[in-house]
Amino acid sequence: MANLRLSNITKKFGKNVLAVNNINLEVHDGEFIVLLGPSGCGKTTALRLLAGLEEITSGNIFIDKKDVTYLAPRKREVSMIFQSYAVWPHMKVYDNIAYPLRLKKMSQDQIDQIVKEVAEMADIKKYLDRYPNQLSGGQRQRVAVARAIAVKPKIFLMDEPLSNLDAKLRVSMRTELKTIHEKTNATTIFVTHDQAEAMSLADRIVIMKDGEIVQIGTPEEVYNECANMFVADFIGTPPTNFIEVEVIFKDDNYFLKNPDFSMKVNSEIASRLNAYKGQKIIIGIRPENIIITDKENSIMSVECLLTEPQGSHKILIARINDEIVKIVASAENQIKPREQFFITFKLEKILFFDYNTQLKI
Ligand code: ATP
Repeated sequence: MANLRLSNITKKFGKNVLAVNNINLEVHDGEFIVLLGPSGCGKTTALRLLAGLEEITSGNIFIDKKDVTYLAPRKREVSMIFQSYAVWPHMKVYDNIAYPLRLKKMSQDQIDQIVKEVAEMADIKKYLDRYPNQLSGGQRQRVAVARAIAVKPKIFLMDEPLSNLDAKLRVSMRTELKTIHEKTNATTIFVTHDQAEAMSLADRIVIMKDGEIVQIGTPEEVYNECANMFVADFIGTPPTNFIEVEVIFKDDNYFLKNPDFSMKVNSEIASRLNAYKGQKIIIGIRPENIIITDKENSIMSVECLLTEPQGSHKILIARINDEIVKIVASAENQIKPREQFFITFKLEKILFFDYNTQLKI
């Protein structure tokens, strides 16, 4: 397994399409990195550059300190798993896994041992004698994973490998991929546009937008310390609520003020907001950080517009100064549409953004 370093990687298609714009990233040995971002942000292009399937415009790629920027794909010792299962339909599962090993001129005994070992890991031992069309989508994707592991690549590259699976299977395959990663500890770069998938798989998430990296962090970091409003909006469901407020300084205290509420902040937040005295900012508050409370502890009352039961919890929809907000309530919550209720915000969880740049304050 290996370290990977991307240094000032840029990829242009023709003159006008800047698919990847000067990205820098250091991936540690054994790390599971997820490239996450909306459609067209350059994730797949970045992965294809790593695999050597796309010619780089500028920058360098290093695997274990070796510059592989202009090395042919097969010499990079990376394995790529695609969205489509890409297993050979005319070969049994055993041969699908064994084929790349035969190309390496391994002995039959060695091949036999490796195939059994990886089939065990990917939980497809029972299917070695079947053809791919006798398997489900999830099983076929496990064959692709087993085949990729068998060649012991330095780095695994996975391009939305779960997106052809139905929703339930997708979630269970996530757990399986994570289990396989625990066993192999293989350095992995995984591309997805599904934030829940990224959160549950990644050691670190790399969030991309318009060909650039906007934040790199652990799932907790990108959820709790969003670099900008784009990240706060993209990560988490339902997404973060954004509310415009004015930073008011009065009687030695700082307040977040909006036509509907005024909330006093503590000294730590006050010092962060010092430069914004008298100015407009945007606060981001996640639906689970709006607390339904009694009148005394509240900052305002709101009207319930709709409720959306989710089984494990309920989402209440309300309005704060013309902005629709979503609030996570317990499954037992009995608030009904048109009913008024009292809320406050978990102060330490509020995210603060510059009104103009949309960057974290
Ligand atoms: P998706 O999640 O939809 O697959 P992505 O984040 O993987 O999107 P890319 O496929 O990397 O995005 O594409 C990045 C940008 O580069 C897009 O604007 C896309 O249209 C453009 N692009 C990709 N491949 C080519 C190509 N071969 N020629 C021209 N433009 C391309």
